[in-house]
Amino acid sequence: MSSSVIDFVATEARFGARNYEPIGVVLSRGEGVWVWDTEGNRYLDCLSAYSAVSQGHCHPKILAAMVEQAHRLTLTSRAFHNDQLALFYEEIAALTGSHKVLPMNSGAEAVESAIKSVRKWGYEVKGVPDGQAEIIVCANNFHGRTLGIVGFSTDPETRTHFGPFAPGFKIIPFGDAAALEEAITPNTVAFLVEPIQGEAGVIIPPAGYFTKVRELCTANNVMLVLDEIQTGLGRTGKLLAEQHEGIEADVTLLGKALSGGFYPVSAVLSNNDVLGTLRPGQHGSTFGGNPLACAVARAALRVLVEEGMIENAARQGARFLEGLKDIRANTIRDVRGRGLMLAVELHPEAGRARRYCEALQGKGILAKDTHEHTIRIAPPLVVTSDEVDWALERLATTLTQDFA
Ligand SMILES: *Cc1c(COP(=O)(O)O)cnc(C)c1O
Repeated sequence: MSSSVIDFVATEARFGARNYEPIGVVLSRGEGVWVWDTEGNRYLDCLSAYSAVSQGHCHPKILAAMVEQAHRLTLTSRAFHNDQLALFYEEIAALTGSHKVLPMNSGAEAVESAIKSVRKWGYEVKGVPDGQAEIIVCANNFHGRTLGIVGFSTDPETRTHFGPFAPGFKIIPFGDAAALEEAITPNTVAFLVEPIQGEAGVIIPPAGYFTKVRELCTANNVMLVLDEIQTGLGRTGKLLAEQHEGIEADVTLLGKALSGGFYPVSAVLSNNDVLGTLRPGQHGSTFGGNPLACAVARAALRVLVEEGMIENAARQGARFLEGLKDIRANTIRDVRGRGLMLAVELHPEAGRARRYCEALQGKGILAKDTHEHTIRIAPPLVVTSDEVDWALERLATTLTQDFA
């Protein structure tokens, strides 16, 4: 490590809240699937900022849209109209088949906004007695870091000493439709769930699960809220992960790749009257729906479709998964994934996934461990076959030789 690296790392540690434990690399530049550190070393980014940079780092068309809009108008607040919001609504609605859109900034804000909206819908449309609304969520969920959200997390690290928490949430196992059926009461307003649990370690539910979930929600007049903040916008090889089971959520949450990593942009999409219950003054955000965010999101959506990134995610994801399955290593317990949302789960005896990620860094790959024993692999959706093969070679030697 050069002195400059030590300096950035030490200075962060000295002044910053220590709520992250980054791998020891200081990045200063990115282009497509590649990032460079302050010493000029190049790495294949296999995290993509938790799937926010799906379109690749510094995509030139999103950059151009951002710069152009920043020269014209950045923020008006929603007290006035701006000439980007309507276009953003129109384009995202056409792309996703949604009827109503609520623009926010971070993913957690989209989740909070959905919770408020489905509760309001429950009281004003479904007829749930005031204060009695229940929302069902899954064990090992990840929906963000606000107080409302961490209150229904099952991860002790996420929750401990942040209470007291808000009531109104019921937790059931993920992938278990019978548990959902049992948990629903007349006061249930929504089931909030990730199509694939990302932070939990890329957990894919059994085939047919979401078909059954959709049936149960429809039969009981419960809003199905899919948190597609990580799985959405092509990550799993479809525009939305719900398409793998041919279902449609009542409320869909997008974030992360909605801006291609340039800017926090999130959105609540609904295909019924959930968002219709919000009246002027009842919900808002100073930055939500600002013209800069809208221009960036419009470009981010456009390049995703026009440049075939969703199809590429399906193609390269399949290649990556096959390649991972071909690695014969006694360190590997399981490999799984859909599209370019992949994970290698290690045997507990193989040691913490973190040291494999550090070894991969030495070979020019940046990946992130999750939950001790899982290496998550999620490169930008513009990755090529050659780059996938390049990564597979390095993963194979790391997993078979370095710690054999
Ligand atoms: C990242 C993520 C969030 C939270 O998004 P932030 O922008 O970090 O607030 C919510 N849900 C899922 C599934 C996520 O992956």
